[in-house]
Amino acid sequence: MRIDIITALPSIFNSIFDTSILHRGIKAGIVSIHIHDLRNYSNHKQNKIDDYSFGGGAGMVLKPEPLAKCIRTLKEGRKYDKVIFMSPDGKQLNQKTSNKLSQLKNIIIICGRYKGIDQRIRDLFVDLEISIGEYVVSGGELPAAILCDSIIRLIPGVMNNETSALFDSFQDNLLAPPVYTRPANWEGNKVPEVLLSGNEKEINTWREQKSMILTENREKKEKS
Ligand code: SAH
Repeated sequence: MRIDIITALPSIFNSIFDTSILHRGIKAGIVSIHIHDLRNYSNHKQNKIDDYSFGGGAGMVLKPEPLAKCIRTLKEGRKYDKVIFMSPDGKQLNQKTSNKLSQLKNIIIICGRYKGIDQRIRDLFVDLEISIGEYVVSGGELPAAILCDSIIRLIPGVMNNETSALFDSFQDNLLAPPVYTRPANWEGNKVPEVLLSGNEKEINTWREQKSMILTENREKKEKS
């Protein structure tokens, strides 16, 4: 999979893709991430990429020309399955969407800044708008990183134990059961006996029950 990220602040991504599971996927050649600095696509003398909002009001808006130029340049190179814009008013990200997106070959992710991006770019180029939740952060970079992380870990071969993503919360509509590690007795707090039993069947039953209880309780909490 190839992911192209368009941003006004490329340095935010410096360490994010250099560590952990994401880095493993990149090193193994399963996924490639390309960060594009919007300023490189500005025709303006001072590489200006933002301007005042028509109609007044505080805050700058990312100009359409550099964004369009960057998207068009990328599209000349290959076919893209989706152009995604990170936006608080988009479709709220969930595991189902991450699963679907993880099966695509090439995607572009646009990160907004300031008041956002010129609406015409959204109208003309964007296929999907994704929100990470009903709150506003200062730019689309962290939301884009969250989206990438959730997608990349689902691509076969990225995670060490390929089955482990399958048992994550939400993957099968169930929350993941609690997990414990050594020591079995930590300051008098003991790990549930069944997990030390070595009886796989009993362990699986315990995990399923815990998952179901956690999921039910969460649903109750959401309703109340
Ligand atoms: N004025 C806009 C918010 C702009 S915040 C509004 O009220 O909707 C600047 C940029 O940060 C946005 O364009 C978007 O790319 C990103 N952003 C902020 N919150 C986000 C969220 N919850 N999900 C995804 N992207 C978000």
